[in-house]
Amino acid sequence: MDEFAYRDGALHCEGVPLTSVAEQFGTPTYVYSASTLIDHYRRFAKAFDAINPLVCFSAKALSNVHLLRLLGREGAGVDAVSGGELHRAMLAGIDPERTVLAGVGKSETELREAVRRDIRCINVESEAEVELLSRIARQEGRRPRLAIRVNPDVAPDERTPARTTTGTRGGKFGVDIDRAATLFNRAAADDALRVEGFHVHLGSPIFDPQVYATAIDRLLALVAMLEQAGHRITTLNLGGGFPAEYLDHTAPSWDDFAEVIIARMADFTARGGQVIFEPGRTIAANAGVLISTVRYLKQAGERQLVVLDAGMTHLARAALYDSYHFIWPLQPPAEATPGSRDVSGLAGLTEYDVVGPICESSDYLARARSLPELKAGAHLAIFTAGAYGMTMTSNYNSQQRPAEVLVHGDQVRLIRRRETYDDLVALELLDEVDGQ
Ligand SMILES: *Cc1c(COP(=O)(O)O)cnc(C)c1O
Repeated sequence: MDEFAYRDGALHCEGVPLTSVAEQFGTPTYVYSASTLIDHYRRFAKAFDAINPLVCFSAKALSNVHLLRLLGREGAGVDAVSGGELHRAMLAGIDPERTVLAGVGKSETELREAVRRDIRCINVESEAEVELLSRIARQEGRRPRLAIRVNPDVAPDERTPARTTTGTRGGKFGVDIDRAATLFNRAAADDALRVEGFHVHLGSPIFDPQVYATAIDRLLALVAMLEQAGHRITTLNLGGGFPAEYLDHTAPSWDDFAEVIIARMADFTARGGQVIFEPGRTIAANAGVLISTVRYLKQAGERQLVVLDAGMTHLARAALYDSYHFIWPLQPPAEATPGSRDVSGLAGLTEYDVVGPICESSDYLARARSLPELKAGAHLAIFTAGAYGMTMTSNYNSQQRPAEVLVHGDQVRLIRRRETYDDLVALELLDEVDGQ
């Protein structure tokens, strides 16, 4: 369910026509639906109600402080992968008891910040990191809680891109599962540390619930082995990776995942264990669109090109992963109002390559895409852009990052202003700033 829909000939976000957002704030601009974000979080949490998980929203998918705060008020925690994301979580008022930190290369400073804040769990990814954490814990006089991120060597399904697969042997994330027990024992023997369990994150997006099942079965075997040796395992963090619907009816429902996961985890939680999830994409992707304006139309060989004001610096996923984003005008002709993302039945469409303004030949948002006939100045929406959209923007080509706007009902609020030329050079003109 999302709150982006065509009504009266125009795309609305909740009660607001997006053309009015484009006029007021310009483009390219990310527009988020508060109701959708909240609804997705609530329904995700409800699907797993039976095992009462701690749901830590993955800030790297969508990290605007206002949106983290919105989710925090609903009871969500935050999964951070850097000190910067921890800082955002703190500004958003997220309770450290609902904050977890992951990352294969955490700095000493980042670990120290997490120790000082006494966050719910630090997910460590190597033997060397356990040593460093132990040293910091002694210096700080604290006993941080940690889980060991395990690489369970589970291949995701064939639709998970290799570039976003994280849980197969030889990859950079986590500790090989056959070395995890040794590391657990080392941490458990350290009175400066409280090692509580294990963490996995398998990749993203994962469409097949059986991938989770396989990883959980391996994890539970490890838990059983350690419990037989007298340890108590109280935390199992199953990560994120749940899919979002980029088309129509391609992603399984949260209930499909819950069925497989609850069946395996119910026994662990009945014994007092805490399950943690770190969903990002599945909550945020369809809670945001990127709106853009057509700058030019041109022909190149046999191809019709439409050149937008948004490109790979504003939404990197298409160029980086060949990802699909549904794209459609904010005000399509009446006969081309899409009832779904399958537009093959609509009349009068033209095939375009959709490109951005960046000087880089990978700067395509879509190739060979059927769209209503476009004119310069027309506004388009690039859908399912709420996750890994704004957070992956860059200033390449000295492009200014987009504005972000939050819609709730008929209320529209700017939650990040568009960058200016001064913003682009603010960190470089040090002499001027220091008056030297
Ligand atoms: C990126 C990431 C997530 C979130 O992944 P999604 O596919 O967006 O749900 C969760 N946990 C960790 C450790 C991550 O790095």
